[in-house]
Amino acid sequence: MRADNMVQDVLAIQAPSHSRDVFGQLMMAAALIRETMAPDLRVQVTLRGENSAVFADSYPGGVTRGIVAGRPFDQDKKQLQVARVLKNGTLQQGLIEVHGGDVAAMIQQYMAESEQAQSLVRLEIEESKDRKISAVAVMAQLLPDGTAESMAQVEQHLNAVNLLSAEAEETARALCPGGLILSHHPIEFGCVCNRDKVVGALATMGVEEIQQIVRADETLTINCEYCLSQYNVTPNELAALLPN
Ligand SMILES: [Zn+2]
Repeated sequence: MRADNMVQDVLAIQAPSHSRDVFGQLMMAAALIRETMAPDLRVQVTLRGENSAVFADSYPGGVTRGIVAGRPFDQDKKQLQVARVLKNGTLQQGLIEVHGGDVAAMIQQYMAESEQAQSLVRLEIEESKDRKISAVAVMAQLLPDGTAESMAQVEQHLNAVNLLSAEAEETARALCPGGLILSHHPIEFGCVCNRDKVVGALATMGVEEIQQIVRADETLTINCEYCLSQYNVTPNELAALLPN
């Protein structure tokens, strides 16, 4: 999977002052797990330390968004959580403790421990001097009838080539000669926020609090924390949330 634009755009919007690589890799991991294992579901990946968290949220179709929160990761011990949002809204999730290593190693560990799937994962990002991003993600999984030798061959190939300079399809064909390309679509940064959701979320405020803002005739300004879109909610819109 090539994710140059997604990583470039999310780093420009979120502009994290720390964890840039970890954030970019986690974004790719969420998109990669969804594309390969749950294309029809929303997949969320969270990496948490004591005072830090990085979150990535990938939607069917390829749109992925994320947030960096807290301070830089300052210790080795972290928790990695992978969740699929099922059609009925419930979460199917797995949580593991990880110690050091990069995000690709954490995802491999997660796949082995939580999904019993022996996997090879590569999440590579390179930033040029003029801040142009190249980003590539690969996951190879051993199927029940696969052999250890075939996995070793794939690993050898992954270690030998420069994934960042190759097209995704070229890499897939090299890893899987005679294989079939099942789908081909862009992976992008994007957000799913909209006015209705923002106004809907305000309905969780208390009636008195809403009444107060309406009486003061204030327009509320709300920024989406994922994409930084700004929504101005008028007193009239707020008043519509109040019970008659
Ligand atoms: Zn948004």
